[in-house]
Amino acid sequence: MTDLTAAATATEPAGAGSPGRNPAAPGGGRTVAAAVPPALVARLAAGITATGEPSVVDTVAPLTGERLAGLPQSTPADVEVAFELARRVQPAWAALPVRRRAAVLLRFHDLLIKRQDEALDLIQAETGKARLHAFEEVLAVALAARHYGRAAHGYLRDKRHGGALPVLTQAIEARRPKGVIGHISPWNYPLELSVGDALPAFVAGNAVVNKPDTQTALTALWARELLIEAGLPADLWQVVVGDGPVIGPAVVEHADYVSFTGSTRTGRDVAQRAAARLVGASLELGGKNAMLVLADADLDRAAECAVRACFSSAGQLCISIERLLVHRSVADEFLAKFAARTRALRLGGGLAYGADMGSLVSARQLETTSRHVEEAVKAGATVLAGGRARPDLGPYFFEPTILDGVTPEMSVCGEETFGPVVSVYRFDTEGEAVTAANSTPYGLNSSVWTRDGRRGRAIAARLRTGTVNVNEAYGAAYGSVGSPMGGMGESGLGRRHGAEGILRFTEAQTIASQRLVPIAPAFGLDDKQFAAVFSGGLRVLKALRFK
Ligand code: NAD
Repeated sequence: MTDLTAAATATEPAGAGSPGRNPAAPGGGRTVAAAVPPALVARLAAGITATGEPSVVDTVAPLTGERLAGLPQSTPADVEVAFELARRVQPAWAALPVRRRAAVLLRFHDLLIKRQDEALDLIQAETGKARLHAFEEVLAVALAARHYGRAAHGYLRDKRHGGALPVLTQAIEARRPKGVIGHISPWNYPLELSVGDALPAFVAGNAVVNKPDTQTALTALWARELLIEAGLPADLWQVVVGDGPVIGPAVVEHADYVSFTGSTRTGRDVAQRAAARLVGASLELGGKNAMLVLADADLDRAAECAVRACFSSAGQLCISIERLLVHRSVADEFLAKFAARTRALRLGGGLAYGADMGSLVSARQLETTSRHVEEAVKAGATVLAGGRARPDLGPYFFEPTILDGVTPEMSVCGEETFGPVVSVYRFDTEGEAVTAANSTPYGLNSSVWTRDGRRGRAIAARLRTGTVNVNEAYGAAYGSVGSPMGGMGESGLGRRHGAEGILRFTEAQTIASQRLVPIAPAFGLDDKQFAAVFSGGLRVLKALRFK
């Protein structure tokens, strides 16, 4: 920790007034060791497809730095086994009526709400995030379970379309499951990004082979157990665990479709491998998201929300705000409010509610965060709040940090930090703000603050991001699970949620039945006469406004 502590000291602002020191949250709750005993680890780890005498990799509890669990590692051969097992049970599952499959999701919804404390303990133990932020995952998964539990039938039912020849051709669009989905998920939202994204795949009739990040595999395995309790056939959800660059490609190699969430760098590799096999992929990748605070914004609400926007899950949230664009006329007032709230955030890691922000997940995340802040400060940026590691609280804690005076050559300006760090920029005109917000290859999420809702939506239309929240940070768009969520540009391909979020797990099949008249010369017409009759028919159909 010596280097990181030194980095923390180096980031003290010169002459900017003290950014203060965040208070520690009151302790409380169970210890990680009590919440995740060896018997629980053994029970959950039995759900990993790992044959023979697998090697075991230890995970660490970020809150304390202590060993959390030893997890058996799958090999590429195990991945093959997992796909075989999944393929064996998938056809029977797909043959069930959609409503029977959807009922599993609705039962899962109820079980999850009832047993949420088990999930919250595991999420906190594996990620180090505050309990409130862990609860956001429960919320997101419950919303998705209810939505697809209720709406899947409508999304998946056969749809009639106008045929080639009105009345004489009947066309039906049917949805068939892809088969076995390869589902690769990161560590930052281990419940939401494992089971939350798998639910629409299951209800569409697929099996899933999931590779969670090893660090957060227990949460995914717990969700699997709960879904089985809700009625999912056990072999339908296979979990493989192992080194990403080895096991990830093995999953892509066997999948009928790939659902990937993670970094843009890995996403490119996954996309290339999927493309080589001609299987589809949805990619939910990184971001460098902006919040725009216009001159007419409610500054108290905006400042309050900016805290959630930037520091939920210690900023390790793909839709987190890392760039704050504030109208010059209100910047001082807004920043005073925002910085005061940020400095007051209570940091801590008990497995109980009460902390406003928890720990980063790993030494790697701490290193990136410290480096971005340290480098920016050395190059002239000012720390308005936070700016240092807090080894007194736990090995990977870093204070919620606001940087001012950030310039393009600093890494923090354009690179995703994925930590609790936000940079402030001032603008004079709306056009300037929109240009600045769009000046990134990413395009995941943005937030606009104005008292004029219509103006907010008009600005949203000019922002190149998959979601825009007007007078909210991310929860409004993410929680609206009937609407698609995902990234433009380097933030990804495809969408979760809504129709796109489930139809991606299906193949469209058109079944067209022809009656009486062939679509070819007939009834004694020669080719020329056929062409003339059909040309006349085309004119009539257009005049009658057929689509
Ligand atoms: P990562 O890309 O390193 O890893 C993601 C997953 O891919 C892990 O399970 C990992 O083991 C696996 N993996 C690693 N190499 C692989 C390979 N070559 N082939 C296949 N799989 C491989 O990302 P991370 O650091 O775990 O997650 C953080 C990133 O995820 C951030 O960039 C964040 O913005 C992004 N993210 C995006 C969303 C979204 O919805 N857009 C949500 C959460 C996180």
